[in-house]
Amino acid sequence: MTAPLDYATRYWKLGFVWHPVCPVEHGCSSPGKIPFSLEQGQHLAGWQDRQLSKQAPQLSKMRRVPSYSKCGIGCLTGHVSGIAAIDIDGEAGEYAWEEVKEGDVETWEYTTGRGRRLLFRYSVAARTVRPQEGLEILLDGSQTVLPPSRHPTGRLYTWKISPDDLEEPEPLPPWLASKIETSHDWSVRISRPTNEGMRHLTATSIAGYLVQHHLPPEVVQELMLAWGEAKCDPPMTAGEIKRIVMDLQKKEERKSSPKALGKFFGLPPEFIGNF
Ligand SMILES: [Zn+2]
Repeated sequence: MTAPLDYATRYWKLGFVWHPVCPVEHGCSSPGKIPFSLEQGQHLAGWQDRQLSKQAPQLSKMRRVPSYSKCGIGCLTGHVSGIAAIDIDGEAGEYAWEEVKEGDVETWEYTTGRGRRLLFRYSVAARTVRPQEGLEILLDGSQTVLPPSRHPTGRLYTWKISPDDLEEPEPLPPWLASKIETSHDWSVRISRPTNEGMRHLTATSIAGYLVQHHLPPEVVQELMLAWGEAKCDPPMTAGEIKRIVMDLQKKEERKSSPKALGKFFGLPPEFIGNF
């Protein structure tokens, strides 16, 4: 029988930062829904703030752990996986979705225990928002359980439009992206106190915003150091901030490389080979 975690390689190839979720028999408050460490046999601590592995899954090693076949599979949403997951929860969610949506939507989609989830391509650093009751846009700091995991109701998360049906998910439509911007006031995010559990993610998000606006990395670093001193409890180290800014800068440079631009304009690789 296939276990949900057998799909890890497949999800990894799609760029998802995947992880096991705890078994539905787990005696916790959200069985079947929380990132889980196979090695330690317990919830994965601090997963919102942790750089989860982007390495290829080592399935043969994982299969030796007895809880392997009982665990579900999930992935981080947001810029790390390049995915925004729209959670439409029950009747309230369907109602809210009808109010928000503009035109027909066809992208990767699957059923959950009580509703459905749509996946869109989205690589901007932004936090999860709930524009309306029953409707949530899962981004940085959240994760989503994926098919064919089991829900505590006994139902399986099941694809309606899978990566087999549609090669790429749709980019996040502007009418959804606008919900994110309006709910994200940068001045609020920068000024509020940030605890240890959230500081890495918040720093990545603020520094990402500055880097995308083409501030030189030295300037971003100095600003982030001041922010880390003033707003983080405990303060972030200079080394940690430097690493975050350097990673973001490298990512930004890759985006504007001749190869990436060539891809954007649909140029063949031979054409851009000389740049
Ligand atoms: Zn659990």
